[in-house]
Amino acid sequence: MTDQLFAEDAYLTSCEATVVDVRDEGVILDRTVFYARSGGQPGDTGILRWEGGQARVVDTAKIGGDIVHQLDGDAPLVGHSVTAEIDWGRRHLLMRTHTALHALSGVIFTEYGAKVTGGNMDDTGSARMDFELEGMNAEMGQSIEAKLNEELGKDRPVHVSFLPRGEALSDPDLIRTKVSLIPENVDPIRVIDIEGIDKQADGGTHVRSTAEVGIVRVVKTENKGKAFKRMRIQIEDAD
Ligand SMILES: [Zn+2]
Repeated sequence: MTDQLFAEDAYLTSCEATVVDVRDEGVILDRTVFYARSGGQPGDTGILRWEGGQARVVDTAKIGGDIVHQLDGDAPLVGHSVTAEIDWGRRHLLMRTHTALHALSGVIFTEYGAKVTGGNMDDTGSARMDFELEGMNAEMGQSIEAKLNEELGKDRPVHVSFLPRGEALSDPDLIRTKVSLIPENVDPIRVIDIEGIDKQADGGTHVRSTAEVGIVRVVKTENKGKAFKRMRIQIEDAD
């Protein structure tokens, strides 16, 4: 099991680590700051440096409990000490985007009682979210955008905590986001709480407070079917 430093502190940009395995899929370290793609958030990119070499990390994935750094170039050897450093600008934009999606989910639930059924984001500050909602149109999109930016502008703190499974399963806010579907062996459960807006079990990396997200635009609303609506958002100053 790789020690996932980003789960406790999303602002760590690098760490020292030891290579514990080298596979076809990539390099496994004893600890890492690289987020492995999951929950709609892409895996981190960056660089591994060691005495006598370095390689770009082009993607990061999770295989079982291990985090695998996929390299472009030669790999270090098992036992090597490495410095693992993420592309921080890219990751920080993903953190802003991920927090924006959670805030959006909270706003839509508060305003329309609609549940989120899916979501995805890319590293250009663009993301989509799917809702169980009967109707949606551009006008609603504009009203949701205004409400979302109003909430983000309140600079609400974003808390990361690890709740014992029993406690998480009985939390009404977490029940709403289907915490019971998390595999039984996951205990404690990591929870992201955007104070006053949204609380959900989540493995992703988030910013410390909502003002750091900046301005978010709703760029598209789509009707994908009955009770299946999609909204696309864009972080305004991402480039
Ligand atoms: Zn999330």
